[in-house]
Amino acid sequence: MPRATRPHILVIGGGYVGMYAALRLQRKLRAGEATITVVDPQPYMTYQPFLPEAGAGNLEPRHVVVPLRRVLRHCRVLGGRITSVDHHRRVARFEPLEGEGYDLAYDVLVLAPGSIARTLPIPGLREEGIGFRTVAEAIYLRNHVLSKLDVAASTSDAALRRRALTFVFVGGGYAGVEAMAELEDMARDAVRYYDGITAADMRWVMVEASHRILPEVSEDLGSYTVAELRKRSIEVRLNTRVESLTGGHVVLSDGTEFDAETVVWTAGVRPHPLLESTDLPLDEKKRVRCTAALQVIGVEDAWAAGDSAAVPDLSKTDVVAFTSPSAQHAVRQAKRLADNVIASLRGEPVVDYKHSYAGSVASLGLHKGVAEIYGVKLRGLPAWFMHRTYHMTRMPTTNRKVRVVADWTLALFFHREIVSLGSFENPRQAFEEAVSP
Ligand SMILES: Cc1cc2nc3c(=O)[nH]c(=O)nc-3n(C[C@H](O)[C@H](O)[C@H](O)COP(=O)(O)OP(=O)(O)OC[C@H]3O[C@@H](n4cnc5c(N)ncnc54)[C@H](O)[C@@H]3O)c2cc1C
Repeated sequence: MPRATRPHILVIGGGYVGMYAALRLQRKLRAGEATITVVDPQPYMTYQPFLPEAGAGNLEPRHVVVPLRRVLRHCRVLGGRITSVDHHRRVARFEPLEGEGYDLAYDVLVLAPGSIARTLPIPGLREEGIGFRTVAEAIYLRNHVLSKLDVAASTSDAALRRRALTFVFVGGGYAGVEAMAELEDMARDAVRYYDGITAADMRWVMVEASHRILPEVSEDLGSYTVAELRKRSIEVRLNTRVESLTGGHVVLSDGTEFDAETVVWTAGVRPHPLLESTDLPLDEKKRVRCTAALQVIGVEDAWAAGDSAAVPDLSKTDVVAFTSPSAQHAVRQAKRLADNVIASLRGEPVVDYKHSYAGSVASLGLHKGVAEIYGVKLRGLPAWFMHRTYHMTRMPTTNRKVRVVADWTLALFFHREIVSLGSFENPRQAFEEAVSP
């Protein structure tokens, strides 16, 4: 039944699903048909597949994010986080960036808080590790790696130098492999300018618990990637786990021990814990259970998609499967979700989401990559070119596309910047020293 009053749609999360769904809702809803509020602690959507290139300095970090307020002109954008949802009462608890929290009433819920890093109770992980999911982490790691080159080039302590030049990545999915390959490529480029350091002095270690890396592509492309990384003297340790990181001392399950000042944790994701503070049904992996039409099962007026939703994969007829946590599904689901929300508001039938996974592209540094799209396998330069072309076409807004291409074009003519701006992390230090007696 069409509604009598103007419904309020609350979108939790302004990432892939939240931003794309809100964009489509604001475009397709008739004037006065509904109001839309989007809540996210960040004022921007992050195009995560470009984070490794932002970390490596090929792209300006501001160009890999999309400002929500600029693109969602017909939505209300609130900065802060939702901490719980009482869907029975149609109320969500909102904690703004500063100040007292308050309740937000809504009629229709779109739940898209995504995922967070999946961690393990490893001693020292909390103190020593860093993730690779946000633009802040990408910026930090770029500065951090370059600052470790500065440390190594300026010390006479051999142990400190070794520790500073040892970089560990845990988890060999596309996020981990791309992040490590891009940062290693950048550091290899940068050491030319450091007296007394060569690429051979650096130690890059990838630790992966399973027998292969890049599970998103076929086994032979995974093996090709291992071989390519090893050619660059990157240690790829398969079937190996991290057992301890206390005090920066890395202990691996194969008995290897060494010190490292950089440990990046990219060992998978888990659904956002906010889901557990809702009255919505969750599956055993703590994802919100959805129908193929992206409706939360068993309740009305609640929709979900992306990394935080268990959506049946209708492209697989032989097994019961759910769509994988990927940008590819998130973007397409967002559009289907928005269309279904509108159909449901208008009392029209909803349509199931169905999409066969097209494949993956991964960059392994400048001019290097692997790609597998609809069964076509590419390696090296063609794969890298495919990676850039694919993601450029997927990057939201013409403004961002142009900026990304401009960054790449400039990089053809000039060497990338190798200056570490680590002091950004403590910008008040110089002033505090000046005012201290
Ligand atoms: C480094 C990296 C590289 C990747 N590369 C690829 C790739 O090449 N191909 C591919 O298909 N996929 C890739 N992915 C995966 C892809 O980015 C995710 O699958 C996709 O972002 C999921 O979309 P989402 O909307 O569910 O979550 P997200 O895009 O993560 O959005 C969730 C949003 O919710 C917000 N949020 C969180 N908590 C709250 C709260 N309490 N209240 C309100 N808002 C909240 C977050 O700030 C965020 O903006 C990559 C991921 C990473 C980290």
